[in-house]
Amino acid sequence: MEKLSNPQVTIETIKKYNFAFQKRFGQNFLIDGHVIDKIVAAANITKEDTVLEIGPGIGTMTQYLAENAGKVYAVEIDKNLLPVLAETLAEFDNVTVINDDILKVDIKKLVGENTKVKVVANLPYYITTPIIMGLFENHIPAESITVMVQKEVALRMQATPGSKDYGALSLAVQYYANPYIVANVPANCFIPRPNVGSAVIRLSRWENPPVKVKDEALMFKLIRASFNQRRKTLQNGINNSQELSFTKEQVVEALNKMGLSESIRGEALTLEQFAMLSDILGA
Ligand code: SAM
Repeated sequence: MEKLSNPQVTIETIKKYNFAFQKRFGQNFLIDGHVIDKIVAAANITKEDTVLEIGPGIGTMTQYLAENAGKVYAVEIDKNLLPVLAETLAEFDNVTVINDDILKVDIKKLVGENTKVKVVANLPYYITTPIIMGLFENHIPAESITVMVQKEVALRMQATPGSKDYGALSLAVQYYANPYIVANVPANCFIPRPNVGSAVIRLSRWENPPVKVKDEALMFKLIRASFNQRRKTLQNGINNSQELSFTKEQVVEALNKMGLSESIRGEALTLEQFAMLSDILGA
């Protein structure tokens, strides 16, 4: 069978199974082999690797992953895709398809507690952040996460202090991983075409976080509070947060200790400075 990255084969397969695209599942299937080659190359998949694919769809990228990896686990929420996947992946004996919601799957149990995985996906955009943060926060043994996301989200993940895209997502991603935008992908590489731009981003997990912080959870609360109200000062953001209960004086004192202005905004602080602020306030 010719590959699904050939648009004609995708169209025929969809017709054959009378498959109806579900918007609520963020279904935009890839129809460009060059893009898939780029993703697989960026993820550096070898026969030694176990790959977790989130949302295989009709199996377009899964076919490439199965050819290159040792083992592939593909988690798909839409049960209507199971008969399609049974056919499109029939020639591979190293793929396991799991019909479940990725946000509910115990990934460690699925792949084995100590198995390192490379996560590869053309993500359903409506749950990009919960998926990525779930992978990081549940301490899944992922070496790297190479994913197609909305272009604007990729820019936010890679943004540095002072830029308009910098925010809580940049800091959270960069605490866990080193982000690198691999490629921009136009809408005509998908069926149906998404109405936003897309980009492939590789997140290479740090062996150790780039900053040391005593209370990770407190640091993330401070980060969220600082970006909750973008045009407000960091001090106001922290004081207005439901999650935190520091007094104005405590925050001012901490900022003074760090040599920062009392009217500084969250978007000016680096990850190191948030870690320092967290350690001072938490002490
Ligand atoms: N990998 C395929 C491709 O590139 O052509 C499909 C990508 S499509 C953007 C996203 C896929 O994720 C769809 O197949 C969709 O049904 C699936 N999906 C959506 N939400 C999911 C969830 N919570 N858990 C697992 N899969 C999900």
